[in-house]
Amino acid sequence: MAIDIGRAIEESSRCVLCNCAKADVCKLRQLAMDYDVNLHRFTSGERMRYQRNVEHLLVRFEAGKCIRCGNCIKVPGDHKEALGLTFIGRGFDVHLGVPFHESMRDGLLEAARAAVAVCPTGVLTLRE
Ligand code: SF4
Ligand code: SF4
Repeated sequence: MAIDIGRAIEESSRCVLCNCAKADVCKLRQLAMDYDVNLHRFTSGERMRYQRNVEHLLVRFEAGKCIRCGNCIKVPGDHKEALGLTFIGRGFDVHLGVPFHESMRDGLLEAARAAVAVCPTGVLTLRE
């Protein structure tokens, strides 16, 4: 099959450059590609800094990738987790975390794998 160089360049120019553990299955990334999103439309010149939290033995937590869907907040309740996850703050500052400023290690015990499974983006991923 012949390679269409022009098409390849066109496709790569709209690539969502994801160096992410969920790049193959991320729903946000897939929708961005499907809707031909323009990455530069709303740029302010500054990029957000993302932090990677690996204090949990099983789960890698990158809060900056959260779309605040709430899926992972429901799951720990099904597993009767003592803490689980919650939204902290209000408005634009709202972010995902563990209640009472506890660590991610204590927030997700039995529900760790299930929370990773329902997260549609790369916020919660398995470290293994
Ligand atoms: S979470 Fe963000 S960085 Fe990761 S695959 Fe999805 S869009 Fe890309
Ligand atoms: S499931 Fe993922 S994207 Fe949704 S609120 Fe939880 S961490 Fe954020």
